[in-house]
Amino acid sequence: MKIEIPQNVNTIIEKIRSAGFEAYAVGGCIRDSLMGIIPNDWDVCTSAMPEEVLNILNKKNIITAGMKHGTVTVKYDSKLYEITTFRTDGEYIDNRRPESVTFVRSLREDLARRDFTVNALAYNHEMGLCDFFGGVSDIKNKVIRCVGDPDKRFSEDGLRILRALRFASRLGFEIEGKTSASIHKNAHLLKNISAERIASELIGIIDGDYVEPVLLEYPDVISVFIPEIKDMIGHPQYNPHHIYDIWTHTVKVVANSPHGKALRLSALLHDISKPECFSLDETGTGHFHGHPEKGAEKAGHIMRRLKLDNKTIDSVCLLIKYHDRRPEANSKNVRRLISKIGVDNFGKLMQLKRADAMGQNPAFFEEKLEYTEKLEKLFAEQTANGEEFNLKTLDINGNDLIGLGITEGKEIGKILKYLLECVINGTVKNFKEELLKEAEIYINKGKS
Ligand code: ATP
Ligand code: MG
Repeated sequence: MKIEIPQNVNTIIEKIRSAGFEAYAVGGCIRDSLMGIIPNDWDVCTSAMPEEVLNILNKKNIITAGMKHGTVTVKYDSKLYEITTFRTDGEYIDNRRPESVTFVRSLREDLARRDFTVNALAYNHEMGLCDFFGGVSDIKNKVIRCVGDPDKRFSEDGLRILRALRFASRLGFEIEGKTSASIHKNAHLLKNISAERIASELIGIIDGDYVEPVLLEYPDVISVFIPEIKDMIGHPQYNPHHIYDIWTHTVKVVANSPHGKALRLSALLHDISKPECFSLDETGTGHFHGHPEKGAEKAGHIMRRLKLDNKTIDSVCLLIKYHDRRPEANSKNVRRLISKIGVDNFGKLMQLKRADAMGQNPAFFEEKLEYTEKLEKLFAEQTANGEEFNLKTLDINGNDLIGLGITEGKEIGKILKYLLECVINGTVKNFKEELLKEAEIYINKGKS
């Protein structure tokens, strides 16, 4: 079987090989190539020691920071390629990283330390595909399986638990029985993994095309670092709009959301406060009063704990806070909503609302879809001229008001806010002349 290797990668491999060492493209790039997916990155493994790799390649383009662990990074055409010496890992401490690494001369040993059979594949044009652990057959059968004993492999590095879920979610693979049982058994090991690494895998998991079965099967894993989801699992809703419990509904919303970090995170966390806001009325119908506001707060707390970036956190919190609002679809309400959440979040909010509706009782889906379409149409009309209904796009600024004789900063701010309100309400158009006229009326009113 021939695999297309990018020219840069092949050049690296051939340079190392002609110096008398072994070199292969290895890991995810081979897995993806066999599946017809374009790999994110190409990694090379070699029998050459890091210093030997340095000597063979042009020193100008080399980053040596990872050399202690055997990795030399080379830059070609502004792309980075990692070249890692065959190695086995030493003792693991805290289920995280090996204490030390030992360089070895055999490809087989190097592949044996890799996490899953589908990632333990190497290739070069001379040797062809090197598959010592059944990776090709597992790719064919769409299976994620540990190389070696799963309990041992997960206790060496707990992050592999989330990597397994991420590959299952991204590739649509089933996690093999023993590996799966071991994931459930060892999920607690994730307590030893840094928030940043967990967050990055979590985003990979929820952003996958095949996320639904993964989240349905492994909520125990997610609850190790988001224990707040525990109360959602199996929680009935007793509401005509819902046919699923809170967690199953949540999973469907994630799966129905378009891709993207903020959107999928808000889908995952949008009903996080439903359990605590639950009440039953006298007719036996369930309600969740206040869950969007409470949920936004709780989600903020969770995301800060996971050390996510502030921009994402702010956006997700806003989307959660507004996810359940249903203002009448008119231009004034749309202008107000834009002024509250911003243009970027508006589109995302509509996508979240649609995904939310898709995870509810299908009897109401058409109606809810029509509603978001109306809001989107109004949004397009209102923003056609680049208007964002905030002080930045207001066609008047502080200097214009100074021109009218207002000198105090506080007063200027107050007038600008008033004018923005007028634009949102539709009583004044966002044209400088009209705004100046309105400002004068406002100022004179204050004087009289
Ligand atoms: P992606 O498509 O996300 O890049 P990948 O399989 O290439 O997937 P990388 O994190 O780029 O994953 O790692 C490259 C290779 O290194 C993997 O294919 C695997 O062989 C090995 N590897 C990475 N992380 C681990 C780990 N935690 N434990 C064991 N092997 C690992
Ligand atoms: Mg990779």
